[in-house]
Amino acid sequence: MEEITNLEAIYAVLRTVDDPELPSVSVYDLGMVHEVAIDGNQVEIKMVPTFAGCPALDFIGVNVQKAVETLEWVTSCQVKFTMEHQWSTDTITEKGKQELKKHGIAPPPENYQPGDEWTVNCPYCDSDYTSMENVFGPTACRSILYCRACRNPFEAMKPVVKPLHTNY
Ligand SMILES: [Zn+2]
Repeated sequence: MEEITNLEAIYAVLRTVDDPELPSVSVYDLGMVHEVAIDGNQVEIKMVPTFAGCPALDFIGVNVQKAVETLEWVTSCQVKFTMEHQWSTDTITEKGKQELKKHGIAPPPENYQPGDEWTVNCPYCDSDYTSMENVFGPTACRSILYCRACRNPFEAMKPVVKPLHTNY
């Protein structure tokens, strides 16, 4: 058996903690893990909140803490959400994007710049013949779209790049 470092063990755990709103999409794949610090048996994890409108942060924090504390050598894990660093949809991993598609959620466009026209490919058939149905999706993070090619409604994650205002 290959020896894995404590840090790798923590990252392995973080890949199993899902966003409660997006089962099978881990907080790691959403790019929320900013920093992991290990001090003996104590672990501190800095996370970056995704969208300000997502209400599940406390829940995610507790889930991450519990998951990391299942590691035998960890006596305590602290999870902090840091506002110092801005999350952007560019930090979502390739796996995260694939998992989002399985939920019928189009991943946000890459290298989006504010003001760019935002074209979204259908997560089912990859057509770009889509239309925005409702900019207010079930959460502030997502929009409802409709694919004119395969006639499925789907959701899209709104692109988030370094916001102009940081005081929310
Ligand atoms: Zn489609």
